[in-house]
Amino acid sequence: MLRVGRTNGFGGKLTFFHPTFAARFADMRVQFGPGSRNTLRAEVERLGCRRALVLSTPQQSDTALGFAEMIGDLAAGVFSGAAMHTPVEVTEEAVKHAADVGADCVIAVGGGSTTGLGKAIAWRTDLPQIVVPTTYAGSEATPILGQTEGGRKTTLSDPKIQPEVIIYDPQLVATLPLAMTNTSGLNAMAHAVEALYAQNRNPVSSMLATEGLAAFVSGLPKLAKAPTDEDARGETLYGAWLCGTVLGQVGMALHHKLCHTLGGSFNLPHAETHAIVLPHATAFNERAVPGLLAPVAEMLEADHAGQALHSFAQKIGAPTALKDLGLSEPDLDRAAQIATENPYWNPQPVTRDAIRALLQTAWEGTPPER
Ligand code: NAD
Repeated sequence: MLRVGRTNGFGGKLTFFHPTFAARFADMRVQFGPGSRNTLRAEVERLGCRRALVLSTPQQSDTALGFAEMIGDLAAGVFSGAAMHTPVEVTEEAVKHAADVGADCVIAVGGGSTTGLGKAIAWRTDLPQIVVPTTYAGSEATPILGQTEGGRKTTLSDPKIQPEVIIYDPQLVATLPLAMTNTSGLNAMAHAVEALYAQNRNPVSSMLATEGLAAFVSGLPKLAKAPTDEDARGETLYGAWLCGTVLGQVGMALHHKLCHTLGGSFNLPHAETHAIVLPHATAFNERAVPGLLAPVAEMLEADHAGQALHSFAQKIGAPTALKDLGLSEPDLDRAAQIATENPYWNPQPVTRDAIRALLQTAWEGTPPER
């Protein structure tokens, strides 16, 4: 059992308490545990629904068909067109399909792409959503929707977007290939790292972020050795819930800005980019807020959070160099320019030169500087 929290950046106290804060908690039901997918029919009925449209990517259409079979006469149909970055044209097709089959709720089975489609439908129609996540992305726990139109990705937040029910079944994540397990896990950890120094953090968000990180620090190395270890799948999926929850509660900073830039303008893959950038963005911000990042260093049994995350990524076999994702070295100048044009709030002041240097190290895959 990992013990963290002795140094938590709030004046060295044993808790994350601080005297003034505001917090927001979403109203959602969570079913967690191996085999919990079998509660799906009961969850549809609990929502008062009778015609569920099951959503998935083309790659997971068999799983979606299996889910439709599982709920029998409560299934209105299956739509397996979900795609990365939630293209609006796919959503419009799915909304039409939902109307044609008379759907009164949606069931999203898959990773962030499928969850995104469910949220995009709900935002337009207010249909209730049940999400059954099969990656660690954490989108199911947020009221945030990112969608793409004409090659441009925009993000919005609305209570209508927040799913009503999440069913976390570790047996469904066990099919996630090891490479994606690692990158998706680090993607989730990135939400929690940034939550620790968020301007609008509160004691509960810091507690959730620390516990979520600890679940991955404990679980991912076990999965690197035994990818179908059910306990470790459960532990990491629990981490995904906590990390997704804090993503929905507090603001993100430099790390997410860099990943949105690299994904949006250079088409780099989502989870891999998060995995590679995280140690570098963390080390950069650690210069400004070492105390707030101390729980990360502490749980990784190291002195510096950024460097410890780099070693952790290497240990579990995650990618560490942007050059391996196909980004060319000359692109780094433009990436630094775009990422610093409209910067998010960040604890460490952001300059173009500093970000260019950070990107160089991330591109080469060498450990971040302190
Ligand atoms: P993904 O949903 O695109 O999945 C990647 C691929 O893996 C897909 O082909 C999928 O079908 C497959 N897959 C998923 N689970 C599997 C499993 N258990 N076994 C085998 N194959 C499986 O990837 P992702 O990283 O989960 O999601 C990325 C998307 O989510 C991005 O568009 C990102 O912007 C979005 N996202 C949104 C939020 C939010 O709060 N709005 C949060 C995190 C991520």
